[in-house]
Amino acid sequence: MARKNEEHCSFCGRPKSEVELLVSGIEAKICNYCIEQAKVILDEEIKSKKSDSLKIDHTLQKPSEIKTFIDQYVIGQEEAKRVISVAVYNHYKRIGHQLNVKNDLEIEKSNVLLVGETGTGKTLLARTIARMLHVPFAIADATVLTEAGYVGEDVENILTRLLQAADYNVEAAEKGIVFIDEIDKIARKSDNPSITRDVSGEGVQQALLKLLEGAVVNVPPQGGRKHPEQKMIQINTKNILFVAGGAFQGIEKIIASRVRTNVVGYVFADHKDDEIDKNNLLQYISPADLKKFGLIPEIVGRLPILSYLNPLNDKALKRILVEPKNALIKQFTHLFKMDNIVLTFDEVVYDFIVEKSIEYRLGARGLRSIVEAILMDDMFEMPSKKRVRKLHITRQYVERKFSKVSLAKLKAAI
Ligand code: ADP
Repeated sequence: MARKNEEHCSFCGRPKSEVELLVSGIEAKICNYCIEQAKVILDEEIKSKKSDSLKIDHTLQKPSEIKTFIDQYVIGQEEAKRVISVAVYNHYKRIGHQLNVKNDLEIEKSNVLLVGETGTGKTLLARTIARMLHVPFAIADATVLTEAGYVGEDVENILTRLLQAADYNVEAAEKGIVFIDEIDKIARKSDNPSITRDVSGEGVQQALLKLLEGAVVNVPPQGGRKHPEQKMIQINTKNILFVAGGAFQGIEKIIASRVRTNVVGYVFADHKDDEIDKNNLLQYISPADLKKFGLIPEIVGRLPILSYLNPLNDKALKRILVEPKNALIKQFTHLFKMDNIVLTFDEVVYDFIVEKSIEYRLGARGLRSIVEAILMDDMFEMPSKKRVRKLHITRQYVERKFSKVSLAKLKAAI
């Protein structure tokens, strides 16, 4: 029975003698029953907020809106942009679907495989998507991966990078995007499954498979090899979107023989009326070609969304130089502006940069090294020249600067 003047819970009014614990605040007290009740309310509130934020992810950005966003950063590659926009939209819709526990229909995860020459924008595409969604993003290089037990990196290290990108927030990492570069380099060397496993090929593909399928994986938080003393963090890869990329050099031959075209040029077996575009066979790529190239069927199956990137021609390279939101020319103009210097270019300078990038086979990555090289002296001298506030770059000027540039250095920089 409550005694007069006995302390009581400020929320439910129970006296101290009727509760197990009464916690005192500055002006109020709370009993164990009210704490438990408050915890239930708090959990529900957090849960509903989480599902709300996920709903926003996929209700706000429709595929066409995703593509419009990517358009700001990636030039051309229309087909790949459309495919990846739909993939991302469906992926985050699928996560939202899972939250609705009443659903018994399971939508399977669809990871993406992008095939295209190096420097055509595969990584940029994946990075841009991650930027838009504000999800953690990590790049992994498949060439350094090895089967557990061999010299090299364990596949789990891919997730370490994602975890680091997420500031060790496991929940955020579990909804992130991972770009696996150079997946073609872990293809097995022949079409026939080998009797002895090759360290850098099929074994690694098997190890990767686990991640792509969706599994709870023990991840070493600091990376490196697993060792017994290291505390592991568990990450579920079920909702991580994997985008794999590779140049698949030589795959055109496989595609060509499948579509039964040759030097003379026949019609596409399945599309009798269509003329085959022999200059860009990648557009006809199919899972069968990837298997023939040396990816195991299980991996191909776990990368069901397949698209290709076009080689970049001079027009595309010129656009890359000036158009994207963070185009190189915009970046350098801004750098000079920070020193109160107005940097301008004759339009033909862009043509020159593109010509050189093509001539020396430097691709889109080479554009930056060329611009760096031709502006290097100015970037060194201009900030100290107090009275010079303008710098106009002409073709003649860049030709002179470029003649002094070492090609080996340019190549090394890309
Ligand atoms: P990949 O992954 O295909 O090897 P990247 O995406 O890493 O190529 O491209 C290298 C760089 O070249 C990018 O950071 C970007 O500056 C530029 N680039 C390549 N392709 C494009 C493109 N289609 N649009 C805009 N920039 C591009």
